Amino acid sequence: MAELTKVINARGTFTPLGVSRSSPAVRAAVADALAHFAIIDELQDLAGRKLAAWSGADAGTVTHCAASGVTLAVAAAMTGRDPQRIAALPDTTGFRNEVVIPAGHCVNYGAPIEQAIRLSGARPVRAGSRERCSLADLDASIERDRTCCLMLVSSKLVDSAPIDLAAAVALARRREVPAIIDGAAQDFRVAELLRTGADAVIVSAQKYLAGPTAGLVVGRAGFIDAVGAQDKGIGRGMKATKEAIAGVCAAIEERQGLDLEKWAIAQEKKLSVFAGRIAGLGGLDVIGVPDPTGLPFERIYVEVDSATAGKDAAALVAALKAGNPSIWAIDDQAAAGRIGFELVQCTDDEIKIICDKMFEVL
Ligand SMILES: *Cc1c(COP(=O)(O)O)cnc(C)c1O
Repeated sequence: MAELTKVINARGTFTPLGVSRSSPAVRAAVADALAHFAIIDELQDLAGRKLAAWSGADAGTVTHCAASGVTLAVAAAMTGRDPQRIAALPDTTGFRNEVVIPAGHCVNYGAPIEQAIRLSGARPVRAGSRERCSLADLDASIERDRTCCLMLVSSKLVDSAPIDLAAAVALARRREVPAIIDGAAQDFRVAELLRTGADAVIVSAQKYLAGPTAGLVVGRAGFIDAVGAQDKGIGRGMKATKEAIAGVCAAIEERQGLDLEKWAIAQEKKLSVFAGRIAGLGGLDVIGVPDPTGLPFERIYVEVDSATAGKDAAALVAALKAGNPSIWAIDDQAAAGRIGFELVQCTDDEIKIICDKMFEVL
């Protein structure tokens, strides 16, 4: 659209930038769905079967986005399939509503995850401290406050000491409390997260899967049924559209056909081209950093020595953003002199534009 700022996204799957670009097949599936009627239950069932086959879960369902997936999974833990309870939410009078979450997982992904919990009528209960939640902390909390346990996996949002997810899930299940994992950007690792034994794993369809905006909730059949049943309650305002469900089906098919090894090599090549081009710039220290959660690609971080480069990291970030097209890098460590580049979303042409702009600015 001509009125809008042209953007190059080197920041990753960032919601304020529209997250990802969909393939022609996904776009066609979305457009096709918009032109037709469908029996939505049938469409959801089809998507559920595809999600199960892809992830290795018993079942799957599609919600409006991952944030609503969190709200509805928590709701499911409180209501099961009981229609009266489903209709009562967010009023939880008469039943338990505590959601145990490691304190360090109480992140803000643009909005606080604790609010996504509270939207269902549940009450978040923080376990451990901001820096650390031991298995004993978690167990003590679950023993006291037993509705469900929610944990999070994220490359960028979590900086507390890592928690052994499989052990944490086992501990919740031993206390007969459902364990839910928010792995919104973890579509590449969904099978691995399910192998922890979690009742539900939540993934965004629009992040690395590059589908339309949707939340994928996969896991145990009974639990996923209860998530879907929220459609008759608070899930009404968080429903997946027909075009989103159709786009999800196409994105899953595409992912199943993906040669991951080839894909990873293509990502490495982009990084090395980028690093090679900007190596000629003085005052930059260029490092490849593996994804901390084990996603199959690296990011490039550039340490800016402002005395040599002539500009500090914050000024470079601002100059990149101010250009046309507007180039967005990972800037959360700019104050510490560090800028990151995630090139998964970038084409070769865009990488060249970023490099040219860096030469122009520095
Ligand atoms: C992106 C993200 C979300 C929100 O995902 P949406 O699909 O935009 O609702 C939730 N949790 C985590 C960990 C995220 O990274």
